[in-house]
Amino acid sequence: MSTDASDIREHEVAVDLPAPDDARLRFIGRIRTPWTTRETCPRQGKPDGPICRVEVFEPWVAALQGLDVYDHIELLYWLDRGRRDLVLQNPGRDGNVFGTFSLRSPVRPNPIATSLVRLVAIEGPVLVVRGLDCLDGTPLIDIKPERCAFSPKAAPKG
Ligand code: SAM
Repeated sequence: MSTDASDIREHEVAVDLPAPDDARLRFIGRIRTPWTTRETCPRQGKPDGPICRVEVFEPWVAALQGLDVYDHIELLYWLDRGRRDLVLQNPGRDGNVFGTFSLRSPVRPNPIATSLVRLVAIEGPVLVVRGLDCLDGTPLIDIKPERCAFSPKAAPKG
């Protein structure tokens, strides 16, 4: 993780990071994309963006069962290459300062990113998708069916 002084812009504010709680996250895969630098990586994925490959690790491949009926899925991933200590950010480098939680910046205390992506194909342990915006090798945290297309499989409550 790079948190050197050169990463901070005028008017931005960093804090001393509190000791981490142990969330016990497990990375369930790795995302392969065409982008190796932040400069070339899109800010938000586009529906017609390039094909990306989401490699799901064992033992989680069995958990893909039933996913193939969805055209779109949500991916949650961990933006592992940014600083995590900014509370105020100057995204435009123009003096307009925003609180971290009012932005979708990759710089945040828990760098969780989400994208709704088009599921193009499932090739064994690999999801072929369009609509991503992360660097090659970004760790995958979770996969969910798109909220609107999903109907609960459990019995109604109450
Ligand atoms: N769509 C997600 C969201 O809204 O939660 C992520 C949006 S974030 C603005 C996307 C940017 O994060 C990219 O343009 C790139 O600059 C940066 N980024 C991508 N992958 C990263 C990684 N693995 N570590 C740190 N920064 C990353």
